[in-house]
Amino acid sequence: MQDKCGIVGIYSHNTSENISYSLYYGLYALQHRGQESAGISLHNGQRMKTYQGMGLVCDVFNNGNLDKLKGNVGIGHVRYSTTGKSLLENSQPFYSEFQGGSIAIAHNGDIINSHELREELKAQGHHIRSSTDSEVICHMLSREYIKNQDMIQCIQEVSQKLIGSYSLVVLVNNDLYVVRDPVGLKPLALGEKGDIKMVASETVAFDVIGAQLIRDVEPGEIILLNNKTYSYKMKNVHNMPRAHCMFEYVYFARPDSYIDGRNVYQVRLNIGQELYKQFPAEADVVMPIPDSAITAAIGYSRSSGLPYGEGLIKNRYIGRTFIMPTQGEREASVKLKMNPIKSELEGKRIVLVDDSIVRGTTSRALIDVLKETGVEEIHLRIGCPPIISPCYYGVAMATKKELIAANNTLNDIHKILGVDSLGYLSLDSLVKCIGIGQDRLCTGCFNEEYPTTLPKDLVYQA
Ligand code: SF4
Repeated sequence: MQDKCGIVGIYSHNTSENISYSLYYGLYALQHRGQESAGISLHNGQRMKTYQGMGLVCDVFNNGNLDKLKGNVGIGHVRYSTTGKSLLENSQPFYSEFQGGSIAIAHNGDIINSHELREELKAQGHHIRSSTDSEVICHMLSREYIKNQDMIQCIQEVSQKLIGSYSLVVLVNNDLYVVRDPVGLKPLALGEKGDIKMVASETVAFDVIGAQLIRDVEPGEIILLNNKTYSYKMKNVHNMPRAHCMFEYVYFARPDSYIDGRNVYQVRLNIGQELYKQFPAEADVVMPIPDSAITAAIGYSRSSGLPYGEGLIKNRYIGRTFIMPTQGEREASVKLKMNPIKSELEGKRIVLVDDSIVRGTTSRALIDVLKETGVEEIHLRIGCPPIISPCYYGVAMATKKELIAANNTLNDIHKILGVDSLGYLSLDSLVKCIGIGQDRLCTGCFNEEYPTTLPKDLVYQA
């Protein structure tokens, strides 16, 4: 399961300050949100420059190319593809020249109706070079800007037509615009340090340059950062519910981030504690599936009094692996990513904590590996409810047909996985652990209650 992208935007009131390294460090801190490509656009008061490439932030940027990027205002992006292939032409920021100057855009999210919008633009003569929804937004904004030289008005107009999730940073000449979709599906926070105002998908990007969190960008808010900070509300947002993605807390975000006022580490500790309350187990040790379930396993261990231990070591230097055609090869692929420590596992009864189960194939393969290593009992605890429906907002999960919990009862899943006991955290408990009311969270993949309309053909495909 992968999220789509991390974004950063910085404006320095000191026009002689070069913010390229601050953007670079911010992207570095968001690397977990996308490892396929990275890019930065900067404006120095005269012209805009963009540099982007495939790979990790440290592969794309070096002193040579960063030193050539100069400016006091800019945006950055790390990408994991959900719409469009992993190609350089799909990397961001997208940029283009138009009559009024230059525009660059970095987007986190997924536009559900991008196909229709793309066709509309093509019919009007727009040449769209990538296969992503983010470039569609870029063209829509520049189309509006040519008609109406007021970018706030343009964002208002374009946002009326977008269905889906979008946190955006948009550089129009040397003005930085920040946009969060009307329900706030994707996170976006505002921070500052001295002359710098900064926005980022997660607050860890502030920490790395010593900036302080001011607040979260509000759902449906448009912020203009130039010599002052201006805040606007999108039209009609007062009727919209809030719907922050629950998976940010369960899995995506770094545990040292704050998302919509909640400390992710604390949420994950709460998840572990609740899992113990709902599903205690007679066991010798509590172990996480690394890395995303580590904090929840610590929470379970603290509540239960069972020792916390490591039984699986994750290979952190692994990229995407090829889809393995045979079961034997898939198991080899699992061992490449996660290797058991026999001395910690043999003869033990373990509580194994994972953040979620999507298809169940990786869980099944890992459980087989643990059993072969000599584990006596496995009590599997899952830090969220069963995933019964796909995500339409930029989380590459699976289709409904592939989701184990959409097609099997809990008893069946218990048997398929071959564990001694299985416990999924309930939706009510997860909401309680996050500490934000369910009416302000997206729960679509758990209960099919999505916060936006879904085009009919999309539901059918799922
Ligand atoms: S459907 Fe699930 S993964 Fe997608 S935004 Fe909603 S809570 Fe997040």
